[in-house]
Amino acid sequence: MSKKATNQLQDLQYFGEFGGINPSISDSSTYTFLSAKTMFDTFEGNTEGCYLYSRHSSPSNLYLGEALAALEGTETANVYASGMGAISSVIMQLCDAGDHVVSSRTIYGGTYAFLKNFVKKFAIDTSFVDNTSLEVVEKSINSRTRMIYCESVSNPLLEVADIKALAKLAKKYNIPLVVDNTFSPLSIAPAKLGADVVIHSLTKFINGTSDCVAGAVCGTTEFCLSLKDVNNGAGMLFGSTLDSLRAASILKNLRTLHIRMQKHSQNAMYLAQKFEQDGFRVVYPGLKSHSGHETMKRQMNADYGFGGLLTMDVSSLEKANALMELMQTEKIGYLAVSLGFYKTLFSAPGTSTSSEIPLEEQKEMGLSDGLIRFSIGLDNDIKRTYKMIKNCMKQLNIKPDMVSV
Ligand SMILES: *Cc1c(COP(=O)(O)O)cnc(C)c1O
Repeated sequence: MSKKATNQLQDLQYFGEFGGINPSISDSSTYTFLSAKTMFDTFEGNTEGCYLYSRHSSPSNLYLGEALAALEGTETANVYASGMGAISSVIMQLCDAGDHVVSSRTIYGGTYAFLKNFVKKFAIDTSFVDNTSLEVVEKSINSRTRMIYCESVSNPLLEVADIKALAKLAKKYNIPLVVDNTFSPLSIAPAKLGADVVIHSLTKFINGTSDCVAGAVCGTTEFCLSLKDVNNGAGMLFGSTLDSLRAASILKNLRTLHIRMQKHSQNAMYLAQKFEQDGFRVVYPGLKSHSGHETMKRQMNADYGFGGLLTMDVSSLEKANALMELMQTEKIGYLAVSLGFYKTLFSAPGTSTSSEIPLEEQKEMGLSDGLIRFSIGLDNDIKRTYKMIKNCMKQLNIKPDMVSV
């Protein structure tokens, strides 16, 4: 690992042009050169510290990239206009026509749709597997496989990937392990556990204010440069570049991520324990009853807890919808997709964020109709929130013994 990779996020300082305590925002799409030769060399990728055109890179995007590399412990990072911009670039960079991907079957709906449908154009096919079984993962690897893809904590079922074990398997077959770490920034550092590429939707916890979409790819300098290559780079040629103004605002928000993650995790843990004690079917990696609890404990940074996401099954889509509407009326949170906001967000993944996944497959992976996904907010008094949710359940006659069929 390079020296940069050992940088602490809080030690990274960038000053503004006039000594400002925040870096200046690069408000330009293009950059002047004093000599034509330098411009040519920059095109060829031979000049460090020179900027050419903002789709390639900009100072603001580089600052944010370096901060994310420090967060994940990778050599460097590229930032993108969305999480999907990052994910699609990585997949297309690593795969040629006719290649194969081994992916966890519980992944973000957009990623699922991309791997299942879109890449068919390039005759790329994907085996969607239960990645908690290493045997199953290994069996599905073939001579055309170009990567193992997973989420550290999966969307929406909160399955925990054993990253160390998957990384070892990937090494054995000389293919990269690509991990989407959107649900567990700070709690899990996939690169430190052996992952080759770490992806984020910055839209969620890292930005934390639900005011923009953005993404990142953290990895080796070689891989990140290949994504930016003017001739062959998927990032460069798809053009899903993050705007400098947004990169600057996300970097400022990133500075409070450690405090926010602690609070999200504390609040989620409190609610998960309470609802489980009440007899509800709660899925939260912090609960002993969770199948990935021990794996998570082994690979997490305990300071940041088990994350802000939990799911609860309230037996039917009708009950789930009624409860979400009432919780919104009672100002407990918003009926909205996405996650990582200061306010609690809830949605029924089967009919929203995972609706790309066919019903049959949803059933098979345990995505039931009555499932509500909660992204628990930064509530100051979580005991009060718990009582308010209980009250909503009581009004709707939602009881613990009801189970989805
Ligand atoms: C939201 C999300 C994405 C997609 O990110 P966008 O910023 O919406 O493009 C990818 N992976 C996970 C786990 C997500 O939650």
